[in-house]
Amino acid sequence: MATKQELIDKNHAYWKDRFTALDDRTFEDAGKSIDRIRDAFDYACREIDKEIERFYSQYADDSGLTLADAQQYLRDNERKEFQADVTEYIRMVTSDDDSRFSKLLDSLSTRARITRLEALRAKTAMYINDAYGKESDALHDSCQKALESNYLRTAYEIQNGVGKYEAFQQIDKKSIERILSKPWTPDNKTFKYRAWTNKEQLIHTLTQVFTRGFVSGIDSKEMTKTVKDRFNVAEYAAARLVNTEAAYFASEGSRQSYQALGITKYQILATLDDRTCDICADLDGQIFNMSDYEVGLTAPPFHPNCRTTTVPYIDDPVLTAGEERTARDPDTGKTVLADGGLTYNQWKEQFVTDDDEEDEEE
Ligand SMILES: [Zn+2]
Repeated sequence: MATKQELIDKNHAYWKDRFTALDDRTFEDAGKSIDRIRDAFDYACREIDKEIERFYSQYADDSGLTLADAQQYLRDNERKEFQADVTEYIRMVTSDDDSRFSKLLDSLSTRARITRLEALRAKTAMYINDAYGKESDALHDSCQKALESNYLRTAYEIQNGVGKYEAFQQIDKKSIERILSKPWTPDNKTFKYRAWTNKEQLIHTLTQVFTRGFVSGIDSKEMTKTVKDRFNVAEYAAARLVNTEAAYFASEGSRQSYQALGITKYQILATLDDRTCDICADLDGQIFNMSDYEVGLTAPPFHPNCRTTTVPYIDDPVLTAGEERTARDPDTGKTVLADGGLTYNQWKEQFVTDDDEEDEEE
């Protein structure tokens, strides 16, 4: 007979193993979104480089390009061509945001005189706006996937671990959107707002890069290098945003699953490696009541880029694969013995009910 302590240790090792795998999956998915964002940013950066090269080849003379050169007005044909591009862009981008950017574009599409520098800034802003549109989509997908997937996978792991399969209700689409649009950080900002702020920031930064560059008389090579540096900073911020938000929504998915299954306690599980910070190392292994669940204090993420997660804390002994499990048939309500264990997909097929699908059938 195993001692009680041995059972507790075995339980802990079991949950740790299963939930580490869940956590890895979350960050692997987030990594795919980050790749999508990198591609979008790299594309924007390359196109802006081309605009800069074109700008220098058109307007620089032997002594280089001064701020005064950059502030010359576009010739009529140049302005008409530029305004046609802007008008086309406004038509394509169905944006409901009332940013400085859209106001700028509106005014540029109709103005009688536009400087070369204004045109360069506007084109730059359009590429950045496109890149952030892609970031916004990737970020939303990533958060939604983290929430939905962790909600179900946490339920599966618990039911599979304690050896009782029962019907489980997927979160409906409306609730998902409500959760995703709710701010969770102390500054009360949503991830959508953060991405928007980062976009405005990059547009502003590059505007400064251009003006300063022309004032100090740098060449196109130096300017494109500075632009690339700023893009690298923006890419890092975007990756951190995706990782942190995905970590939060994965955590939230698990929390809601714990609640739905009546779990009363959870334990902190930090990824212990050379990157683990002191905050997370100290919290690792601590057990909290669900009633004390508070993101940033007793629940992850504890900081940006946090990789710490939670596991359910259950006193019941945990079965291992091959041992007896019971299943309550979702249709008849009868409890039957289930041989071995179900895979996640088998479980999902048999036990997960989905409100949205039922609505469509009605
Ligand atoms: Zn940490």
